[in-house]
Amino acid sequence: MEVQVQGGDAKSLIGEIVMMIPIRCFTCGSLIGDKYEEFKKRVGMGEDPGKVLDNLGIKRYCCRRMFITNVDIIDQILPYEESVYRKGKEYQVMR
Ligand SMILES: [Zn+2]
Repeated sequence: MEVQVQGGDAKSLIGEIVMMIPIRCFTCGSLIGDKYEEFKKRVGMGEDPGKVLDNLGIKRYCCRRMFITNVDIIDQILPYEESVYRKGKEYQVMR
């Protein structure tokens, strides 16, 4: 299994686009998952995050924090998940 360092694109280890931001805002329940890819792309190109959120129509601060504080770490955790699973199986065999 080849491990890649996550770059600016939103591709996972298997090459598919992943979206790990919650679908809805934790506080108000507003739909935000569909706007995250555009937010990430535009901020990656150097636009101001606050202006991008204004432009996308994200007005409430509860929803804005969902975008600003989100960190995509799924590709960094995934390789370890597999080894933890294998270790768990070894432990079951030993018992
Ligand atoms: Zn909200």
